[in-house]
Order: sequence, then structure tokens, then C-alpha cells
Amino acid sequence: MATGETRRRWGASGVASYGTGMAYPLLPGPEELSAAERFASWKDRWGAGRRGVYRDLLPGRMPAAGEQYAFEVDLDLCSGCKACVAACHALNGLDEGETWRWTGVLQSGSSRHAWHQTVTTACHHCVEPACLAGCPVLAYEKDPVTGIVRHLDDQCIGCQYCIMKCPYEVPQYSRRRGIVRKCDMCSGRLARGEAPACVQACPHHAIRIRLVDTARLRGRYRGLPGMPGATAESWLPDAPDPAITLPATVYKTERSMFRLLRAADREHVTRQPAHWPLVFLLLLTQGAAGLFLYAGLLRAFGGAAAGSMLSWMPVATAAAMVLAGAGVSLLHLGRPGGAWRAFLGLRTSWLSREIVALGLFACGAGLAVGREVFVSEGGFLWPAVAGALGLLTVFCSCKVYDDTRREFWKLRFAGPRFLGSVWLLGGVSALVLASLGPVAVDGWAWIALSVCAGGVFKLAGDGRILRHVYDDDFGPLHKTALVLTGELGRWDRSRVAWTLIGTVVIPLVLCLALWSETWKEPRPWLLLGAVTGASCTWVGEVLERAGFFMAVQSRKMPGNPVV
Ligand code: SF4
Ligand code: SF4
Repeated sequence: MATGETRRRWGASGVASYGTGMAYPLLPGPEELSAAERFASWKDRWGAGRRGVYRDLLPGRMPAAGEQYAFEVDLDLCSGCKACVAACHALNGLDEGETWRWTGVLQSGSSRHAWHQTVTTACHHCVEPACLAGCPVLAYEKDPVTGIVRHLDDQCIGCQYCIMKCPYEVPQYSRRRGIVRKCDMCSGRLARGEAPACVQACPHHAIRIRLVDTARLRGRYRGLPGMPGATAESWLPDAPDPAITLPATVYKTERSMFRLLRAADREHVTRQPAHWPLVFLLLLTQGAAGLFLYAGLLRAFGGAAAGSMLSWMPVATAAAMVLAGAGVSLLHLGRPGGAWRAFLGLRTSWLSREIVALGLFACGAGLAVGREVFVSEGGFLWPAVAGALGLLTVFCSCKVYDDTRREFWKLRFAGPRFLGSVWLLGGVSALVLASLGPVAVDGWAWIALSVCAGGVFKLAGDGRILRHVYDDDFGPLHKTALVLTGELGRWDRSRVAWTLIGTVVIPLVLCLALWSETWKEPRPWLLLGAVTGASCTWVGEVLERAGFFMAVQSRKMPGNPVV
């Protein structure tokens, strides 16, 4: 085996044995050279006559049915020198700051058994790649023979959903190019029988390409009956659950204490990007769905109490919000010109489904407006239909985030948040519109009280995450709670204050004023109060949704110690 040979060549100490050529006594001894220099020196001396050495690091044949190529990393040989990282960067012509291979550190937490293990990692060319399943424009393909997961740069629209979907956050977004890119295992070189850049560059031959049996991997990570291993422990400590995508990379070591190691950065929390276009896409579509539903309900059951909600204004406002949401979402894309192809991934991608649902929602909203303008005002059916399509869009939005398997984005957290926004933003918009013209007091008060109830529901639901601050496992929810109470503490507290003022304090005060008949018609102060309440609510919701993106934490491959 190549690794056995490698150990023999380099000896137990990891120092190569050299011949005694005339020039060598004049050069520094091997023990004074870095690993990369030792390799260069060894290659100069032996490389020409040992061209087969790289072939030892490649499988001798193509994968058979049920097999695929995979990286194999011998952790006992990896020194963390980053020669693989540099070679990958140079050979693939990566941009500054772009990297397709990383090194991280596992370490023991005990001074009695101090240990430090470096880990090199790249795309795992998973058996069930989540990046591929999530892409709305089919910009990934898994080679049916080699199993290599390739990214098709010319198809990508730069939505970055594959970054959220990949548990290992492998795809890298290039702002300059407007697309993501990732490792393709140097498939062109492999096809010519040459080793990938990282494999060739590693001075310790710690990385090689091997064949793996995909059924055995499935059994190993998902515990299928009759399969050996059957445990997620077969993977790296603190890394994402391998059962999600079945990563093909094999990490091997003979060190018995390996299982006791922890990722060096496991206690580190990092604030994530806010994704502002997505913040406004979500809030505008959810607010529009809510406004359609308020209009439909008031028209169906409110009678005269529906007041100005019987006019075309709520329907037109909600439709404008849908269009604004769809428009602002384009700002999130690196290549918005290709957005029309986003239906292609409908079979597997929740992002595709969300985009198609949003298209249907926009059509329903347009038809509702058309009916109000050209046929008659005040019907409840079309606002209700548009509202139902809005709820379908909200459900798809929930699934877009739930499907990333990030704990804080799971349905139990995202669902109440998104539905709460439907309730609150629809309600405060309806309050503003109901304050225009002659006010139907009963209808106005009904909307205001429902907004109060929605505010309490939303704040209580959103606050559930904070109890995880008392966990002590540095798991994803614990770290999310740490971000929300630490780095984003003021952000989150001010969000609560804005929401409380906009949805509870102002509507209640206005209700009391209405009931006590403090203000007579026309009631400009009522309109001003409703606009102020709606503005406060919007500020609170924008802060909440940005926090939703910034606070999410997930397991990841081991990183480097944080100093
Ligand atoms: S590691 Fe991530 S990017 Fe690579 S194949 Fe798996 S899911 Fe896709
Ligand atoms: S279109 Fe989106 S999901 Fe598909 S590869 Fe590009 S960034 Fe990733």
C-alpha cells in the first residue's frame, strides 16, 4: 500500500533517508529542512526515476458499479503544513481569499494527555450531495462513473443556497464573478492519470484518491441493518452529521485517543451575514400574505365593520408588496439575468419551489387587483385566494431554511417566526389602511386587538431560543443563543422594544382613545398613530429577520484555534 511504503520511505521519525552523493554533505541535513523542502529535495533526487510514485496515490482502476472516487486522508501523516492548500490555490487559479481546501485542528482538552491533530479538508464529493439537491438551476452534477460532484459555473446564478445547504460550507461565493465555485477533485488531471494538486503537493503523502463502496458508506453513517460500523462516530469529532450527505472522504488514524479530541474552534461563535435582500424578500411577501388574509376575512365576516378594507386599496397595497419582494430578491443574486431558470430544480430544491410559489402568488395578487379595478371592489374570494397562495409561499420559505438542517432554521423556530410576520405585518398594514377615510370602529378595534395578540405570540415564540444560553455543550443552539445575547444583544433587545411598542403599546392606546371617543371624525391622529405603530413594527421585524440570518450557527469541519 502506498501509505505503508510512504512510512517506510520516510521512516518512523518522518525523516527521509538520503544517499551520500557528493553534494549532499554540503547541504543542510534533512532534520534542518522543512517538510516541503525535504519533499522538494527528495523529488529532485528520486522523482525522475520514480514517476510511478503518484500512481501509488491513485486507484489503479476506474470505479466499478456502486463505487466512487474519494479523498483518503491519513491523519497520522498530516502535519498541517498547508502545501495542499497552496497547491490547490495555485493550480486552480483561485482568486485572492478563495480556497477550496482548508486545514483545521483537533486537540485534546486535557493537559495530562495533550494532543494536537491537524486535519486537511475539502469537498467530500458526497454520495448524496446536498448542494446538488438544493440548487434551483441544476448547476451541479454528480459524475455517474467517478462520483465526483462538479459545479457548472456557466449555469450558476449566484443565489448561494448551495453554501447554506452544504453542511461543510464548501462552495465559495466570488463576489467578483457572481457565482460560487468549488473543488472538482482536479477531475481533468485524474482523467489523464495525474494526481490532483493537493495529492501531488503533500510532502507526507497524507492525501490520496481511493475507491469507496457507496453502500458501505451508507450503512456506516446511517446504520443500515447488516452493515458494519453503523455509527456517526466513524466520522470526525465535532463535524456535521455525516448521515445528512454521506461524505465520501475517508479519514484514517491508528491513534487510539483520536475519539477524545475536540475541534480547536468548537467554542468560537461567528456572526453570519445578514443577507439584506432576503430579509426584505421574506418580510414583504409575508406582510403581503397577511394583508390579503386580513382583507379577505374582514370582507367575508366584517360587513360594514370592514370599512375602507372594502376598497381596492388593501388589495393593491398587498400586490405592490409582493412585487417589491420579488424585485428586491434579485439583488441577492450574483447573476440575476438567469433567475428565470429557477424552476429547473423543482424536483428536489425547496428554493425552486419557493420561487415558483412566489410566481403564483404574484399572479394571484395581479388577478385580485384586476378584479378590484375592472370588475368590482369588495369581494372576499380573490383576496382570500391570493392570501392562500401567499401562505403557500411562506410555507416554502420555511422549508428553504428547514432543509439546510441548521438547528435555528428548523421548522419549529422558522415556522412561528414567519407566520408571526404574516400576522403582524399584515395587521399593521391593515390598521393603516383602515384609518383612511371614515373609520369603522369595531373593525378597526378587531384588527388592533389581533395585532396585540400577534405581537405577544411572536415575541414569546421568538424568545424560546434564548433559554439555550444555559446549555453548556457549545452545540448550534447554544452558540446561537450566545450570539443573540452577546454580540447581537443590543440588536435583539432593541428589536423586542420596537415590536412591543408597534404591536402592543400603540394599538392598545389607539383602541382606548377610539372607544372613549376622544377623537371625532376625521381622525388624523388615528392615522398618524397607526403609521407610527406600523413603522415601529417594521423596524422590529427587520431587526428580527436580520438576526435570524446573523445568529445561525452550525456544526462545521474543525477550524483553527482562536486566539
Ligand atoms: S461536501 Fe458539500 S459541496 Fe461537496 S459534495 Fe458534499 S454537499 Fe456538495
Ligand atoms: S445557482 Fe445557487 S445553488 Fe446553484 S450553484 Fe449557483 S449559487 Fe449554488
